[in-house]
Amino acid sequence: MLTISNLYAGYGKVEVLHGISLDIPKGRLVTLIGSNGAGKTTTMRAISGMLKPSSGSVRLNDQDITGFDAHRIARAGLAHSPEGRRVFASMTVTDNLLLGAFPRYVGARPKGDIKLDLEKALELFPRLKERRSQLAGTLSGGEQQMLAMARAVMLNPDVILLDEPSMGLAPILVEEVFRIITRLKSEGVTMLLVEQFAAAALNVADYGYVLENGSISVHGPAASLKTDPKVVAAYLGGA
Ligand code: ATP
Repeated sequence: MLTISNLYAGYGKVEVLHGISLDIPKGRLVTLIGSNGAGKTTTMRAISGMLKPSSGSVRLNDQDITGFDAHRIARAGLAHSPEGRRVFASMTVTDNLLLGAFPRYVGARPKGDIKLDLEKALELFPRLKERRSQLAGTLSGGEQQMLAMARAVMLNPDVILLDEPSMGLAPILVEEVFRIITRLKSEGVTMLLVEQFAAAALNVADYGYVLENGSISVHGPAASLKTDPKVVAAYLGGA
């Protein structure tokens, strides 16, 4: 479904990703683990077109999307729920969600039933349902984070990149976010997940990659990474 091969990317003269390769098969949940500054967000930005890779390739459904603009990549079927509160503050929750479906209105994605999907998204995120008419800028940080995630779902994409969906959330909302991720997975949504809670990410994921200083150091089925002594020591709070 999504295949990243030998990807290099950085900012100006600083190279952050030194040739990484990832495979996210259809219907699978893959997690990317790494310390602060390892390059996880940079990976997601280089995949979704927010940052141009300097070399390597990104393929989605056998289409080479390397270096495409972000809007073209969204139209090709890849949604990116970015880190932080990237919502349209002066628009309502509902309008933010409908904007996520914009490529479907203009025929760039299969249209489907947008109204029904809006209701489904609001069922999935009850906090947003209660606040559907509220301006997004007046939501709490955690609610805005959820809105960014729900907006990505509204594209009805082939793949979703989730960058730290639980960042800054109260523990009860972190649980809710993981419940939602599990639900999306059970519906067959293909996802790449970056999470500060590596143990929780490995619990829900099928497969994991460990990113160290811009290179993949270890990868394998999530269940085996959970018991890999090096992964446990470095990322799962083990001794
Ligand atoms: P975190 O968990 O802290 O978010 P991360 O693994 O997502 O970390 P990145 O945000 O991808 O890491 O950052 C990787 C490196 O790239 C860091 O050294 C960071 O300082 C640098 N970097 C990130 N964004 C920029 C930018 N816009 N300009 C220059 N350097 C940047």
